[in-house]
Amino acid sequence: MEKTINKYLDYRKKIIAFRYVDWLINWDQKTQAPPKSAKFRSEQVEVLSEMYFDLRRDKEFLETIDELLANEEKIEDEDLIKDIKKIAKELRVIRNVPIDEYIKYQVTLAKSTKVWQEARDLKDFDHIVPTLEKIIDYQKTVIKYLETDEIKGYDVLLDLFEEGSSVEFYDKFFDELKNELIPFVMEITKGARPKYNRKLFTREYPIYKQKEISKYLIQKLQFDLDRGAIRDTVHPFTSGISTDDIRITSDYHENNFIISIFSVLHEIGHAIYDQNNDPKYNGTFLFGSPSYGLHEAQARLFENMIGKSYSFWQRHYHRLVEEFPKQLSGIEALEFYKYVNQPQRSKIRTEADELTYSLHIMVRYEIEKEIFEDKLKIRDIPKRWRTLMAKYVGVKPLNDLEGPLQDIHWALGSFGYFPAYALGSAYAAQIYNAMNLVINVESVIENENMSIVNYWLKENINKYGGSKTSEEILMLATGEKFNPKYYISYLKSKFTKLKSGKLK
Ligand SMILES: [Zn+2]
Repeated sequence: MEKTINKYLDYRKKIIAFRYVDWLINWDQKTQAPPKSAKFRSEQVEVLSEMYFDLRRDKEFLETIDELLANEEKIEDEDLIKDIKKIAKELRVIRNVPIDEYIKYQVTLAKSTKVWQEARDLKDFDHIVPTLEKIIDYQKTVIKYLETDEIKGYDVLLDLFEEGSSVEFYDKFFDELKNELIPFVMEITKGARPKYNRKLFTREYPIYKQKEISKYLIQKLQFDLDRGAIRDTVHPFTSGISTDDIRITSDYHENNFIISIFSVLHEIGHAIYDQNNDPKYNGTFLFGSPSYGLHEAQARLFENMIGKSYSFWQRHYHRLVEEFPKQLSGIEALEFYKYVNQPQRSKIRTEADELTYSLHIMVRYEIEKEIFEDKLKIRDIPKRWRTLMAKYVGVKPLNDLEGPLQDIHWALGSFGYFPAYALGSAYAAQIYNAMNLVINVESVIENENMSIVNYWLKENINKYGGSKTSEEILMLATGEKFNPKYYISYLKSKFTKLKSGKLK
């Protein structure tokens, strides 16, 4: 057995090395590579991708995995078994889907971002329909090859992003939001919107000053820059490869300094998750977290529960004024707090506030579900979108750009991903509630003792990496299974207080 294990570890080393190179190229491309570097890079990427593909389909490697899994009981190291299972699951696609279909799909994907961009310029969903049809056909093929006795249809895709989730699981969650949250949102967003000082959204906020705020937030929330980095990008993301190398990005807009503040807070949450992994998971497939939802939860916790709290801005607003004395003169912390928390019936998901965010996700979930249940034609998506937006968010898009063309996910073949965003927000509320039973988080924020919060997250969630399921971690950290009631009551309590003007 030892010989087989060593063989597996050798392959793992090579795969991680390929991942590292791929990660670095991606990072470079999205943060600093010159525009004209694309052609030469893509030639190198093609060679590397082929080598990486061959490595993962190497017969000896796949046989090694099969042998180890067949002799599971002889392996003492439990993490190793989980590690093997994790990569075995990941390899199912390239193992089972016929190679010509796989390659045909990669060719479609290589062009799809451009088609999506063209459709956006034309504000015409029809332009992307043929591409989307190809992508969805392929996804249906993937489903066919990955289906098991227990997991069928759209559940196959949901399970790829959030292990153990299913239509049944999400329907139950979203039904609660439909019953509890939608009437509340409709009530709270009724009538004229409160007026805010125009300086908040019309003044110029120089980007080099916004970057000083990013640095300040990183320092206060204790994202360790000796083991991390921050750079500029167009669409912010976090990208990590080991506990000693986790990088975040942000985007800056002169006339809107608020976007970068909350995107930095969000990415810091992601980054701290990975920095807090047990370092023994570096170089293994268990590095990171068990699911997209749980990772997203920590980002939402930093962005919303902490970053959009009054305690936080009471403590840190002075730093914004220091950087922007003219722009923010006459604006108090309270007004800023209310401004960044105003609930709105907006059309664009990425601009949605904390209260309405998950309702945008529900629109996408319903559509995906109908597509994979063969109840909705691709060309009819915009119409369905308008109906569902009116029903869930109370607003209708004027054109396709404000409708289904606003997100890139589908054009990239990401189906089953969206629901994990909403789940992340709900996990965050449950985690926040559990944390508050042992720590007074508000007073921690007021006293700038963030290491207490970070330590709790590390010990209860982050240190496990991907060695436990989301359900197991939630159980350990909060004492119960996923329960959406925390999310609903957190939102209702926060936004009722905001509306009435009472803040504590
Ligand atoms: Zn995120």
